[in-house]
Amino acid sequence: MAFDYDLFVIGGGSGGVRAARISAQHGARVGLAEEDRMGGTCVIRGCVPKKLMVFASEFSHSMGDARAYGWDVRRGKFDWKKFHGKLTAELDRLEGAYRGNLDKAGVEVFDQRAHVADPHTVVLADGRKISAKHILIAVGGRPFVPPQWADKGVMTSNDIFHMDSLPKTALIVGGGYIACEFACILNGLGVEVTQYYRGAQILRGFDGEARGHVAELMEQQGIDLHVGTDVIDIAPQAEGLKVKATDGRERVFDKALFATGRKPNTEGLGLEEAGVRLGRWGQVEVDAYSQSSVPSIYAVGDVTERVNLTPVAIREGHAFGDTVFGGQDVSADHALVPSAVFTYPQLGSIGLTEEEARDREPIDVYCTSFRAMHSSFAGRPDRVMMKLVVSRETDRVLGCHIIADDAGEMIQLAGVAIKMGATKADFDRTVAVHPTMAEELVTMREPVRSS
Ligand code: NDP
Repeated sequence: MAFDYDLFVIGGGSGGVRAARISAQHGARVGLAEEDRMGGTCVIRGCVPKKLMVFASEFSHSMGDARAYGWDVRRGKFDWKKFHGKLTAELDRLEGAYRGNLDKAGVEVFDQRAHVADPHTVVLADGRKISAKHILIAVGGRPFVPPQWADKGVMTSNDIFHMDSLPKTALIVGGGYIACEFACILNGLGVEVTQYYRGAQILRGFDGEARGHVAELMEQQGIDLHVGTDVIDIAPQAEGLKVKATDGRERVFDKALFATGRKPNTEGLGLEEAGVRLGRWGQVEVDAYSQSSVPSIYAVGDVTERVNLTPVAIREGHAFGDTVFGGQDVSADHALVPSAVFTYPQLGSIGLTEEEARDREPIDVYCTSFRAMHSSFAGRPDRVMMKLVVSRETDRVLGCHIIADDAGEMIQLAGVAIKMGATKADFDRTVAVHPTMAEELVTMREPVRSS
């Protein structure tokens, strides 16, 4: 049977665009539908605008440092409108680049929603039916707000990039990546930030000691962090929201940002009707090659709830294209994925936490906490933390956790060594780069704990 396309991709985010381009380069006829702006969460309402806001917010700290270093710098006001105008222009530029690359690769783009009608048919919002030998679901996820608060005028991370002005006060609910990053960003931009997290410590899933260290640094910079605290009532006011918390506090905030997780975007996509098996959260269940329970339908990225990070979605999309249209046998590797939480300072991590490693085998833990030269001279109280979790049996470094300015950059490079199987002895025989913060990673001689 002749299909309209060899591949039809639903979703123009990082994973979908990479899969479309690679498949087209392998000679496939490819169509792609995107209902929103091209580039998806990462480019339009995630990593990219977030990181630009991180840069903007960090100036508030570096201005204080500059004064301490002898510069005559006065801290003026942050002009959200000016920044926002530039941000919007930058996102337009990036969206254009995404479109241009798809065009160059020969991918036909449909700017509308699409859903699956059967294992080889996609229906566009305008009613057109398109047949495809393969369908790739790359629709990502969307912010989840507990239903009782969804219509109370609260914001999600999608809204934060569209604010007309910066609030004076903000409540952030949640303790994950997005909550902690925006707590630091808004605080840096001069917003009075309160954060409620229902659990005992923020950043669940990260190394225990690192979580405590980040929490301490966040409080030190003025974020009013309350763990073991959740929202029990929200009453919209003429100006702002009156929020009652489980600790009995009642406070009015100009804005409340719910960063309470994300859910796969599979609602109304016709997947279950087409026989695709979905998981508990609505994620598409896939095998190592991103193939769903229906052989002609694949899925990559956050919609599969494997490792929800842009570079992972890109790897999955690339592997899909190489395997299905390039005649290769490639599956994305989900082991030892480095990542960074862009708090201030950042948390970079790869591999096992101390807790996970300890449950698996005997380990030595090397950990140091110190005031870095730059901030110590500036009189800042924050301390860097560096930790290596090492197997006693093999000497391999099982995990690395860094809290420092630019820890994201450091963990990328430490990640190469650890992915290659570096041992503690390999770290030890690497000469320090002096004077840097990262040199501490190769100069920790004695374990602080063994278990
Ligand atoms: P996370 O899953 O990281 O965090 C969600 C937070 O919301 C948790 O603290 C969770 O608490 C809390 N929560 C969930 N449900 C409720 C509820 N009903 N009431 C109160 N609190 C609740 O999700 P994020 O949205 O922060 O991020 C989503 C994913 O996006 C991340 O996991 C990450 O993969 C990716 N991401 C990566 C970034 C990066 O690489 N820098 C940046 C941003 C996102 P609990 O811990 O108790 O479950």
